[in-house]
Amino acid sequence: MKLAITYHEEFGLSGDPVLKHRVIPSFQALQKIINDKQIKVFTPQICSELIDTVKQVHTPSYLHEVKSSGFYENALLSTASVLQSAKLLLHKTVQSTFAYTGCAGHHAGRSRFWGYCYLNDVAITIHNLRKEGLKRFLILDVDPHFGDGTREFFQDDPNVIHINFCQAMFSRLDTQFHNYDYALRTGTDEEFLEILDRALNPAYEFELMIVIFGHDSHYLDYGDFHLWDPTYPLLAEKIKKYAQGRPLLWALSGGSHVGVAQTVIPSIIDTLAK
Ligand SMILES: [Zn+2]
Repeated sequence: MKLAITYHEEFGLSGDPVLKHRVIPSFQALQKIINDKQIKVFTPQICSELIDTVKQVHTPSYLHEVKSSGFYENALLSTASVLQSAKLLLHKTVQSTFAYTGCAGHHAGRSRFWGYCYLNDVAITIHNLRKEGLKRFLILDVDPHFGDGTREFFQDDPNVIHINFCQAMFSRLDTQFHNYDYALRTGTDEEFLEILDRALNPAYEFELMIVIFGHDSHYLDYGDFHLWDPTYPLLAEKIKKYAQGRPLLWALSGGSHVGVAQTVIPSIIDTLAK
């Protein structure tokens, strides 16, 4: 088995109101691929180990605020999905995973949150995996919004390579701590793929690669990039090639357009499963 999906129906029922409507229809659109390619779907569960890690990553007052938002449980389940995906990779059950979420994570810092993000699923997952001995991670954030929360956690950490795509005029590349912000000026397919090639040109060493995937990059969705459908399988192909069989986790981030999700998520899953 090459690929697994972690998914919970609650993501589509009680997830963030902007993000949740795409979840169930896009998962239904995956059924043929899941059957044809015999992709296994795992259901995440909230466990005490996860809650302990969340408390180590976010401050108590922050968690109080998240609980007041009404999205704590769903954000916890979303984080469980990313963590379960990572553990499947770690235990070599599969080569790549796609983690569905109901809330996003990359704008959640240690003590502040915004933009449909409540708990930083990726930071919590990395914190947890470090307890199991993993040291070096590569995060490729291709959501069109800057992953400021994730950057806050890892900006001084040279063992987490953090590559961000965002709409800006100038790129900022910090080779000392491996913080790379790639500016897309127009957000077209050509520019996106060219920047992707540039961003993945260095042969980084890592034990786990995490792709923070937001389809709000699609021209029909709410972000500032203007990508069309054919770019998404190309993105998956290039990332898969770069990972060279090393553990590869895709974590669902921004995006609200149901039709876009029904098209691009299956095209990515299909590419990863080949
Ligand atoms: Zn976004």
